[in-house]
Amino acid sequence: MRTAIINTKLLTFQGNGLGIIEDGTVSFSHGKIDFVGKSNDFKGEGVEHIIDGKNHVTMPGLVNAHTHTSSTILRGGAQDVPEIEWMNKAIGPIAKHLKKEDGILGSKLGVIEGLRSGITTFGEYTSDVGRLIEEVYAPFDVRVTATETINEVTSNKENLGPKDVYELDRDKGRKSLKVTDRLYDKYDGNDLVKIMYEPQALDMVTEDTLKQIKEHAEKRSTKIHMHVAQGERERLQIKGRYGRDTTTIKVLKEFNLLNEKLLAAHCHGTTQEEKEIMVENNVDMVGCPSSIAMIDGIVPPVSEFLELGGNVGLGTDQAPGPGTHNMFREMRTASILTKTKYKDPTKLPAWDALKLGCIGGAKVLDWDGKIGSLEKGKSADIITVDLSKVNLTPSVDVPFHNFIPNLVYSSSGFEVDNVFIAGKHIMRDGKFININERKVVEEAQNRADALFKEAADDWEEAGSYLVNMTRKGLL
Ligand SMILES: [Zn+2]
Repeated sequence: MRTAIINTKLLTFQGNGLGIIEDGTVSFSHGKIDFVGKSNDFKGEGVEHIIDGKNHVTMPGLVNAHTHTSSTILRGGAQDVPEIEWMNKAIGPIAKHLKKEDGILGSKLGVIEGLRSGITTFGEYTSDVGRLIEEVYAPFDVRVTATETINEVTSNKENLGPKDVYELDRDKGRKSLKVTDRLYDKYDGNDLVKIMYEPQALDMVTEDTLKQIKEHAEKRSTKIHMHVAQGERERLQIKGRYGRDTTTIKVLKEFNLLNEKLLAAHCHGTTQEEKEIMVENNVDMVGCPSSIAMIDGIVPPVSEFLELGGNVGLGTDQAPGPGTHNMFREMRTASILTKTKYKDPTKLPAWDALKLGCIGGAKVLDWDGKIGSLEKGKSADIITVDLSKVNLTPSVDVPFHNFIPNLVYSSSGFEVDNVFIAGKHIMRDGKFININERKVVEEAQNRADALFKEAADDWEEAGSYLVNMTRKGLL
């Protein structure tokens, strides 16, 4: 079936600038875009499904390049706490009551939220990711770059101080590496699923395993997606493991891992010189501004990598902490935090933020041959945004298109009303076609009620700052 979205404002990301077409049409058939241009030039042969795009902007689906959707069931579970308490005292005591099925339910919740706000591609990062592909991404027909966590840290770290090096278990790594190999073979050539390798972080795997991961990824011409230079804990571990004067970036360079096959997440523990080395070596970067600001009180170096000429994407990380899987909010947060950090309102402008959310994310996840812009031959991963909503009004085209800043600074994300992935209609006029959103929301609510109750004693005993605030009637 050939579908056309007509009389719409197009944001194509083609050519110079953003590729804006005021009265445009995009059409697609067999999952692929077959026309993008001015409505006047559109012939319309064989179109069976027409969507009137009046008062809408039609653009590529957004790319959430780094996320752990399975923890969405813990949304609101840990924020406004000191960084040192976030994992062990705030979210950990609740997370330890999670069952496997909770991860699936959490992921459904997160992916539905993302779809509703225009995300069509996810960079999913978790253990047992094969189940998420089978039970969430595949049945929902959503595009995903999936990575299976490879983490060799043993559970014997209770009595370790921050400078004590953790014990690592090679067998754990070997198993996860095998899982990744199998997933790669299973989804090789799949239209919607791509597999990358995922050592969780340099301090969490042995040198040996890391070298194997590199070999396996190279053999399959796929990338390594890794948390890099995540701050103090990692810094101390790397010094303890590899020597006083070294850093994550220096070790990665020594292991020949700084190249176009590395997608580095976060990177807030890197120096300016290290950022330059990374970009010179074509390392891609993904930043999660809401998450890193909420958990660490730090602005991740998204604009720094961008200004150096690197490929950069944005991600929502996990819901507890940052709060949402909503890329419109992520683009806004990235921009506002960067302006504030540099006391400069020209930093990370709307046009750059939009590129990060679409074509930037597509590049870092290696999908840019297929998605990230509206171009003939590319996959029809397309969303429409209703510009007649009160918070996006007025929308003018002369003397400039104010929907560009409005998309980044004024939208909530929920003005998205149509979502297509590989030409398949996922959401029509704000309603899901094959996804039972209500059912997932109800199940998640019921399960979270039980889960948080179950964890209540452990949570209180852990005694985070939030326990005190709750006693004061603030939570
Ligand atoms: Zn992460």
